[in-house]
Parts: sequence; structure tokens; C-alpha cells
Amino acid sequence: MAAATIGPRPMVICGPSGSGKSTLLKRLFAEYPDTFGFSVSHTTRQPREGEINGVHYHYVTRDHMEKAIANDEFIESACFGGNLYGTSKAAVRDVQDKGKVCVLDIEIEGVKQIKKSDLNPILVFNNPPSVDELKRRLLLRNTETEESLQKRLDAAQREIDFGNEPGNFDIIILNDIIDEAYAKFKDFIISEIKKQQEQGVQISLETKN
Ligand code: ADP
Ligand code: 5GP
Repeated sequence: MAAATIGPRPMVICGPSGSGKSTLLKRLFAEYPDTFGFSVSHTTRQPREGEINGVHYHYVTRDHMEKAIANDEFIESACFGGNLYGTSKAAVRDVQDKGKVCVLDIEIEGVKQIKKSDLNPILVFNNPPSVDELKRRLLLRNTETEESLQKRLDAAQREIDFGNEPGNFDIIILNDIIDEAYAKFKDFIISEIKKQQEQGVQISLETKN
């Protein structure tokens, strides 16, 4: 019998809302189009302008999500800013079936649950320079109401404290100057993938120039 192929380890990126996670991921996915696949979470929040159902999230009702969680369809789930978010088993499987690095963009309660699962991800914390800077970025992004902005800022310090606690993450990226943050993020994740390649894991690192 042929030995089972071992797939690449997933990667989790966590950090307060507005810290720049999506910005880093967008650049990484554009530079390595064959390497990474996004774990499309479920959420009960409304789509933002430009967000696409099934691409950025699966947008569902609370009732739908609660039933699916009770039905054991989720690896982790959490309430953030008054909405439910969660990673379905199918979302991760879809990416892993393609042999890609599955990327999860999740908040800290989800990270705590994932750490107890058998997913064994590489854990990245995206650290903002300050809560004031988060506020500035979120206001410029122009996606939040006054209420949802406040909820995000209220959660931020707790998230920063968890992210900076030794042992919670494999790397902490200070996301101040975007080009510097991206270079550190990319170097770390690519070196982790190269280590796995040396152990026989098949994964493309072709770049798009
Ligand atoms: P997150 O996904 O963590 O919520 P985003 O990637 O959406 O954050 O970034 C929030 C806003 O801040 C966006 O408008 C983005 O263009 C901007 N941004 C991201 N990184 C930086 C940075 N290092 N410096 C200044 N602005 C940034
Ligand atoms: P946003 O509403 O800005 O897209 O996301 C809000 C927060 O929810 C972010 O911190 C993001 O990382 C987190 N999030 C997104 N999807 C999931 C998920 O599936 N599970 C958990 N636990 N958090 C998620």
C-alpha cells in the first residue's frame, strides 16, 4: 500500500480588527497563487461592500449557524462584536484536498480552540503599533458603524495581551510599516514551508512575478 501523502501544516493569522491581516494575506496570495488557500469562515455579520458570499465568508443566519455548530460541523466558533464566526470542517478540508496551505484568519477565542484540536497550525500574531492606530485604520477603511467600531476597539487590548503572551504564537509581527511587516511575515511562513518540504511535504512555492 502506498504511504499516505502528508499535507502542509495550516497557518493561523490572528490580530485585532484593523491590524492589517487581510492586507498581508492579499499580498501573500497574490505573490504565491498556488501555495495558499483561504479557509472561508461562516459568519452572521452582514457582508461589507465588495465582499462576496463563498469567497470572503459564508454569510448565514444565526439560526443556521447555531444548528450547524450543534451538528458538530465546526472546528471552532466564537462570538465577536455581537456576531458569530466559525471555521467549518469542510472549509479546511476543501483547501487541504488541493494540497495547499490552509490559512485561517480568526480571533483569539477560536485560536484557543484550535490549539486544543489536532490541526497543528503555524500560529502568527499580527500586532498593531497601538489601539489609537487601529482606530485610525478602521475609520479610514470606512466599514464600521460607530457601534461596531467601538466593539472592535473594546476587544483590541485583550487580543493584544493574548497575542504577546509568550507561548501563544510562533511569531509576532509588528505591523507598523506595511512593507516591513509583509517582508517579516513572508520570510517566516516561507521558511516554515521550506522546512516541511525538506521533510517530504509536497507544496509549490512558485511565485508570480
Ligand atoms: P484586518 O484584516 O486585520 O481587519 P485590514 O487588512 O482590513 O485589517 O486593514 C485595515 C485598514 O488598515 C485597511 O484600510 C488597510 O488598507 C489599512 N492598513 C493595513 N495595514 C496597514 C499598515 N501597516 N499601515 C497603515 N494602514 C494599514
Ligand atoms: P471581520 O468582521 O472584520 O471580518 O472579522 C472580525 C474578527 O473575526 C477578526 O478578528 C477575524 O479574524 C475573526 N474571524 C473571522 N473568521 C473567523 C472564524 O471563522 N472564527 C473565529 N473564531 N474568528 C473569525
